[in-house]
Amino acid sequence: MKMKIIFSEKCLGYGSWHIEGPERVRKAYEILEEKGYEFLTPEPASEEDLLKVHDDDYVWNLKKGLVEDTDTPAYENIYEYARLSAGGAILAAKVSGFSLMRPPGHHAGRNGAALGAYTRGFCYFNNIAIAVKHLDKPTLILDVDGHHGNGTQEIFCGDEKVMYVSLHRHPHYPGTGYNSEANCLNFPLWADCGEEVYLKSFDEALSKVDISRFEVVAVSAGFDTHNGDLASLGLTEKAYREIGKRIGSLNKPTFFVLEGGYSGENIGKDIDHLLKGMESSTP
Ligand SMILES: [Zn+2]
Repeated sequence: MKMKIIFSEKCLGYGSWHIEGPERVRKAYEILEEKGYEFLTPEPASEEDLLKVHDDDYVWNLKKGLVEDTDTPAYENIYEYARLSAGGAILAAKVSGFSLMRPPGHHAGRNGAALGAYTRGFCYFNNIAIAVKHLDKPTLILDVDGHHGNGTQEIFCGDEKVMYVSLHRHPHYPGTGYNSEANCLNFPLWADCGEEVYLKSFDEALSKVDISRFEVVAVSAGFDTHNGDLASLGLTEKAYREIGKRIGSLNKPTFFVLEGGYSGENIGKDIDHLLKGMESSTP
C-alpha cells in the first residue's frame, strides 16, 4: 500500500521570491501526483497543539507579525501558513503519511531561534515536534535534512520519551550538532561526503538506538543533502532509496515531515525513492 501524502495548495501562497519558495513544493507535488500517490488535505493545528511546543509569547508575536529575521520573513498571514504546515505534520503522524507542506520546522525552538543560532532558518513552528507531542508516544526522531535540527534538539533534549538522531553537514548553518548530548545523537559529516560515508554513518546511528523502546518513528525529511543543494552531502536518489530501506526495516509506524530541499524536481524524485525503499524493506 502506498503511503499517503499530506498536501494543501494553500501552502503555495507566500514567499515566491525566497529560496524556500512555493515552486519547490509545487514541483514535488506534481511529480508525486504523476506517480500515482494519494493525497490527504490537512487542517490547521490548534493553538493548544502549538503551545505544547512553543512559548505563548512566541506564538502571539508570530500571530501579530512581529517575528522576523534575515532568513525568515514576517510574511502576511504567516501564522496561518505555519499553523497549516504544523497541522500537516499532525495528520501525517495520525495516518503514518508524508507531510509535503511548507514552511519547514526543525530550526524553530521553543521561543524562536534555537541553541544560539542567529536565525530561524526559514522555520516558524517546529512541525515535527508538534506532531510528536500530539501523538504523545515514545518516538524516535530521525533527522535526515542536511542541516542540524537545532530547534528539535532544544525542544526534546532530556525528554525520556523521545530520542533525536541527526546526520548533517558540519561546519554549516546553524552551527550546532557537533556533539551528541543526552538523548540527542548527532553525526556531523563533511560537505559532499557521498553515499558510502553517509550510509555507514546512518547504520552506525541506528546501531546505537534500542528500537524496542519506541512505538513510532518520525522522520524530518529534508532533501538538501542532495548533490548540489544547500547542504549537499553529495547524495542522489539512490541514497534516499537506501535510507528508506533502513527506515522500513525498523518496522514501526512511521511518518515523514518535509524540511529543506530547494529543487522541487529532486524533492519529488527523492521522496518517491525514499518511500519505495521503505515499502520494499518493511517486513
Ligand atoms: Zn536543511
